[in-house]
Amino acid sequence: MKIKAIFLFLICFSFSLHAKENQIAIAIHGGAGTILKSNMTPELEKQYHEKMQEALKAGYKVLQDGGSSVEAVQAAIIIMEDSPLFNAGKGAVFTHQKTNELDASIMEGKTLNAGAIAGVKTVKNPIKLAAAVMDQSVHVMMTGEGAETFAKQVGMEFVSPDYFHTERRYKQIEKVLNESKGKKTAQVENEQVWPDDKKFGTVGAVALDKEGNLAAATSTGGMTNKQYGRVGDAPIIGAGTYADNNACAISATGHGEYFIRAAVAHDICARVLYKGISLQKASDEVIQEKLVEMKGEGGIVGLSPKGEPVFSFNSAGMYRGYIDTNGKIYTGIYKN
Ligand code: ASP
Repeated sequence: MKIKAIFLFLICFSFSLHAKENQIAIAIHGGAGTILKSNMTPELEKQYHEKMQEALKAGYKVLQDGGSSVEAVQAAIIIMEDSPLFNAGKGAVFTHQKTNELDASIMEGKTLNAGAIAGVKTVKNPIKLAAAVMDQSVHVMMTGEGAETFAKQVGMEFVSPDYFHTERRYKQIEKVLNESKGKKTAQVENEQVWPDDKKFGTVGAVALDKEGNLAAATSTGGMTNKQYGRVGDAPIIGAGTYADNNACAISATGHGEYFIRAAVAHDICARVLYKGISLQKASDEVIQEKLVEMKGEGGIVGLSPKGEPVFSFNSAGMYRGYIDTNGKIYTGIYKN
């Protein structure tokens, strides 16, 4: 009898240990928009899947090794920032002046600490700078030259502005500028002059670590043809990024002006908290109803405190993926 009880205890103990170890998860997005299979070659599609898997595995490895969710989201995002496939870091879109201006933010769900940067031009990995703002300064958000001065002080890696020049993005800005010639500024802002591969390739990641802490992070080059120091939702805490251990972690991608006005990331977490609804339902209410009514295009990736990954997007596609609490890996691009 006694032996049986000890045996049962050991089984339960090992189960609970196992369950605890598995409570890690990570999910990412690589931008949402008019991503149609008809516009995609099999080779390019493969490249996206492979790069997303690489990013997911990098973040998951950090979590497996006992790293924090804040470290994991950075590891995943750095892989995507360094790839020309996404509109972040290396693959950033061009501004109206044919420069690249980068925005990023990060948030920790345990403490509600956050860091963000906007309009930086020579920092190789904007997400690292956002994390430095969170961890090594008393501020939450820094912009432009000030952010770059801080970046020097904390030893960030710098690159020449040319590093961000990719042919594909350059062609996009040329096309947009040609199409908008003769039009007034207000029209240049108009949806119709966004490039035909009208997608918002911002990258984002959400993660849950072994300590049960959530984190969210987002990094972007913004929107093609932006000007006047325009800043989108990606570096705005509560719009493009939000994490609260009691509710969820969210990273958004889409037409930033709408995401700011709808306070998307915070609104989703608030609905979970105040209405007691599931993360999927809260995300759908904001992305498929509120934003659709406003005519705002885009989507989110989210993670619940239990590590359930959630996607919601109202565009044709969204680059996305996760490794869930069972270690299952998934990547997807199109709606179905
Ligand atoms: N949300 C970003 C912005 O408006 C764009 C994107 O998601 O690609 O700057």
